[in-house]
Order: sequence, then structure tokens, then C-alpha cells
Amino acid sequence: MESQKATYKLAEPPDGYSAPGMFATRLDKVVGLARANSIWPLPFATSCCGIEFMATMGANYDLGRFGSERLSFSPRQADLLMVMGTIAKKMGPIVHQIYEQMAEPRWVIAVGACAASGGIFDTYSVLQGIDRIVPVDVYVPGCPPRPEQIIEGFMKVQELVADEPLRRRYSPEYRELLAKYGIK
Ligand code: SF4
Repeated sequence: MESQKATYKLAEPPDGYSAPGMFATRLDKVVGLARANSIWPLPFATSCCGIEFMATMGANYDLGRFGSERLSFSPRQADLLMVMGTIAKKMGPIVHQIYEQMAEPRWVIAVGACAASGGIFDTYSVLQGIDRIVPVDVYVPGCPPRPEQIIEGFMKVQELVADEPLRRRYSPEYRELLAKYGIK
């Protein structure tokens, strides 16, 4: 039987100065590189988009290739809240509480039309987008989005994570953003 060779693609190093035996770059670039390739997602799946996420975690698409095979079902050990599915207004306070329980730095993806805008459910009982209760970093369109789209949204988050200045979370602008959502 022919042996299968594993191939690995290393993460690109950040910009910097290199010479034989040394490499110098900025601290926030190194921290960003590490964070972007070890994101722990918290999947908050309420309906059909969650099934697409299951496929995204499966062998064909394998989100583990991006360093995110470790899902977190505890908000306190999660970096990325992935909201997938219809969020009823009754469910809104729970999503808000989960976001509050996550430690900084934290990011959010709204996966699919329902999470992004209520989708086809323009009714009294459905939240018309989770950005009414928590700040959202990336929106993934589709009803449902395919796993490729979820992965693309995830890679957009990776870009944000890699480029985020270390002091952003202490900035007055960020505090102002959280205050709009009633988060201290
Ligand atoms: S966006 Fe479409 S597929 Fe996703 S949860 Fe809503 S109705 Fe289901």
C-alpha cells in the first residue's frame, strides 16, 4: 500500500527584519499570529445553519486546519462566538449573556441570513439580526451558507485577529462600542 505523506503549510511569518540567526518584528504581530491560528470557537447553533457548521467541522472541510479544532462550549474559554441560526427575541438575552461571559479579546461571526438580519423570518418573535444585542465582526451571507462560506468568514476573522493592535480593547472607542450594547 502506498504510504501517504502528510503535507503541512506553515503560517506566514509577520513582516520584520531577518538576518542569519535572528528575526525581529513587532510584539503585536507575533501575538496576532498566535491568536489568529489558535482561535477557540463557541458554536451557538439554533437551527439549519448549525448543520452547515457540522459539515464545516467534518473531515472534508475540517476547521481544524485553521487551528480551531477545539470547540469551546464554555464561554469563558472561547475566543469566537459563532451564532448560527434563527435567534428568537426570547433567546436574545442568552446570547448577550454568553458574550458577556467571554473573556477579552473576543470576536463574533453572524453565520447566515437569520443571525445577520432575521432572514426570512420578518416576524414579531425573531430578532432582526444579532448586532442588535452584541457587536458583530463578520457577517456570512446565505440561507444556509455553504461550509466554504463559513470558512471564508472564519478567515476574515483571522485577518482581523492578526491585525488587531494590542491596545484596541482598552481604547475609548471600543469602550464606547460596548457601552452601546450595555456592556461594561
Ligand atoms: S439562514 Fe436559512 S439556513 Fe440558516 S438558520 Fe436561517 S433559515 Fe435556516
